[in-house]
Amino acid sequence: MLKEAEKTFSDFLEKKDLKLTSQRRTILRVAFEAEGHFSAEALLSLSKKADSTISKATVYRTLALLKESQILEEQDFGDGKKVYERAQGRKHHDHLICIRCGKIIEFENEPIERLQNAEAQKHRFKIVYHSLKLFGFCNSCG
Ligand SMILES: [Zn+2]
Ligand SMILES: [Zn+2]
Repeated sequence: MLKEAEKTFSDFLEKKDLKLTSQRRTILRVAFEAEGHFSAEALLSLSKKADSTISKATVYRTLALLKESQILEEQDFGDGKKVYERAQGRKHHDHLICIRCGKIIEFENEPIERLQNAEAQKHRFKIVYHSLKLFGFCNSCG
Protein backbone atom coordinates (compact mmCIF):
# COMPACT_ATOMS: atom_id res chain seq x y z
CA MET A 1 0.00 0.00 0.00
CA LEU A 2 2.87 2.37 0.83
CA LYS A 3 4.47 1.34 -2.47
CA GLU A 4 1.31 2.40 -4.35
CA ALA A 5 1.28 5.74 -2.53
CA GLU A 6 4.94 6.30 -3.41
CA LYS A 7 4.08 5.63 -7.05
CA THR A 8 1.11 8.03 -6.92
CA PHE A 9 3.24 10.67 -5.23
CA SER A 10 6.24 10.39 -7.55
CA ASP A 11 3.95 10.54 -10.64
CA PHE A 12 2.23 13.59 -9.16
CA LEU A 13 5.54 15.29 -8.33
CA GLU A 14 6.92 14.56 -11.77
CA LYS A 15 4.09 16.54 -13.35
CA LYS A 16 5.17 19.47 -11.21
CA ASP A 17 8.83 18.99 -12.09
CA LEU A 18 9.54 17.88 -8.55
CA LYS A 19 11.32 14.78 -7.31
CA LEU A 20 10.45 12.23 -4.66
CA THR A 21 13.41 13.13 -2.46
CA SER A 22 14.34 10.95 0.49
CA GLN A 23 12.86 13.56 2.86
CA ARG A 24 9.57 13.63 0.97
CA ARG A 25 9.57 9.83 0.96
CA THR A 26 10.12 9.78 4.74
CA ILE A 27 7.28 12.25 5.34
CA LEU A 28 4.98 10.17 3.12
CA ARG A 29 5.86 7.01 5.06
CA VAL A 30 5.35 8.72 8.43
CA ALA A 31 1.98 10.12 7.29
CA PHE A 32 0.97 6.71 5.99
CA GLU A 33 1.86 4.98 9.25
CA ALA A 34 0.23 7.62 11.47
CA GLU A 35 -2.94 6.39 13.13
CA GLY A 36 -6.30 8.02 12.47
CA HIS A 37 -6.45 11.80 12.23
CA PHE A 38 -3.31 13.82 12.85
CA SER A 39 -2.33 17.50 12.85
CA ALA A 40 0.47 19.11 10.85
CA GLU A 41 2.37 19.59 14.15
CA ALA A 42 2.08 15.87 14.92
CA LEU A 43 3.37 15.03 11.45
CA LEU A 44 6.27 17.43 11.98
CA SER A 45 7.34 15.83 15.24
CA LEU A 46 7.00 12.29 13.86
CA SER A 47 8.97 13.28 10.75
CA LYS A 48 11.72 14.85 12.85
CA LYS A 49 11.89 11.65 14.89
CA ALA A 50 12.41 9.69 11.67
CA ASP A 51 14.94 12.16 10.22
CA SER A 52 16.14 15.05 12.37
CA THR A 53 17.35 17.01 9.31
CA ILE A 54 13.78 17.49 8.03
CA SER A 55 12.68 21.12 8.46
CA LYS A 56 9.29 22.47 9.39
CA ALA A 57 8.99 24.17 5.97
CA THR A 58 9.64 20.87 4.19
CA VAL A 59 6.98 19.08 6.23
CA TYR A 60 4.37 21.77 5.57
CA ARG A 61 5.17 21.96 1.87
CA THR A 62 5.10 18.17 1.54
CA LEU A 63 1.84 17.98 3.47
CA ALA A 64 0.24 20.39 0.98
CA LEU A 65 1.49 18.20 -1.88
CA LEU A 66 0.17 15.03 -0.20
CA LYS A 67 -3.19 16.71 0.11
CA GLU A 68 -3.18 17.95 -3.47
CA SER A 69 -2.32 14.48 -4.75
CA GLN A 70 -5.24 13.10 -2.69
CA ILE A 71 -3.04 10.67 -0.82
CA LEU A 72 -4.16 12.47 2.34
CA GLU A 73 -7.47 14.11 3.04
CA GLU A 74 -7.77 17.30 5.06
CA GLN A 75 -10.52 17.48 7.66
CA ASP A 76 -11.80 20.22 9.89
CA PHE A 77 -13.80 18.77 12.74
CA GLY A 78 -15.32 22.08 13.78
CA ASP A 79 -12.66 23.35 16.19
CA GLY A 80 -10.88 25.28 13.45
CA LYS A 81 -7.85 22.98 13.54
CA LYS A 82 -7.08 21.08 10.42
CA VAL A 83 -6.27 17.41 10.67
CA TYR A 84 -5.26 14.90 8.07
CA GLU A 85 -5.90 11.26 7.41
CA ARG A 86 -4.83 8.72 4.88
CA ALA A 87 -7.19 8.58 1.89
CA GLN A 88 -5.36 6.44 -0.65
CA GLY A 89 -6.00 2.73 -0.26
CA ARG A 90 -8.88 3.28 2.17
CA LYS A 91 -12.61 3.12 1.68
CA HIS A 92 -14.49 6.38 1.85
CA HIS A 93 -15.96 7.05 5.29
CA ASP A 94 -17.67 9.84 7.19
CA HIS A 95 -17.43 11.05 10.78
CA LEU A 96 -19.32 11.47 14.04
CA ILE A 97 -17.64 14.11 16.22
CA CYS A 98 -18.11 14.53 19.98
CA ILE A 99 -18.16 18.24 20.76
CA ARG A 100 -17.26 17.64 24.41
CA CYS A 101 -14.31 15.23 24.37
CA GLY A 102 -13.37 15.43 20.70
CA LYS A 103 -13.77 11.71 20.07
CA ILE A 104 -14.13 10.93 16.37
CA ILE A 105 -16.05 7.89 15.20
CA GLU A 106 -15.77 6.80 11.58
CA PHE A 107 -18.63 5.18 9.72
CA GLU A 108 -19.45 3.84 6.29
CA ASN A 109 -23.09 3.79 5.26
CA GLU A 110 -24.00 2.77 1.73
CA PRO A 111 -27.66 3.94 1.84
CA ILE A 112 -26.52 7.43 2.93
CA GLU A 113 -23.99 7.50 0.10
CA ARG A 114 -26.69 6.48 -2.39
CA LEU A 115 -29.11 9.13 -1.11
CA GLN A 116 -26.48 11.84 -1.52
CA ASN A 117 -25.80 10.73 -5.08
CA ALA A 118 -29.52 10.65 -5.89
CA GLU A 119 -29.96 14.16 -4.47
CA ALA A 120 -27.07 15.48 -6.55
CA GLN A 121 -28.46 13.80 -9.66
CA LYS A 122 -31.84 15.48 -9.12
CA HIS A 123 -30.06 18.84 -9.35
CA ARG A 124 -27.78 17.70 -12.18
CA PHE A 125 -24.97 18.36 -9.80
CA LYS A 126 -21.66 16.55 -10.21
CA ILE A 127 -20.15 15.66 -6.85
CA VAL A 128 -16.38 15.98 -6.71
CA TYR A 129 -16.05 15.02 -3.06
CA HIS A 130 -18.04 15.16 0.11
CA SER A 131 -17.45 15.07 3.81
CA LEU A 132 -20.39 14.32 6.08
CA LYS A 133 -19.91 15.29 9.73
CA LEU A 134 -22.38 14.74 12.53
CA PHE A 135 -21.67 16.75 15.70
CA GLY A 136 -22.92 15.82 19.14
CA PHE A 137 -22.09 13.88 22.30
CA CYS A 138 -20.53 10.44 22.37
CA ASN A 139 -21.71 7.65 24.62
CA SER A 140 -19.41 8.69 27.50
CA CYS A 141 -20.27 12.39 27.25
CA GLY A 142 -23.95 12.28 26.34
ZN1 LIG B 1 -17.26 12.51 24.18
ZN1 LIG C 1 -11.53 9.52 9.27
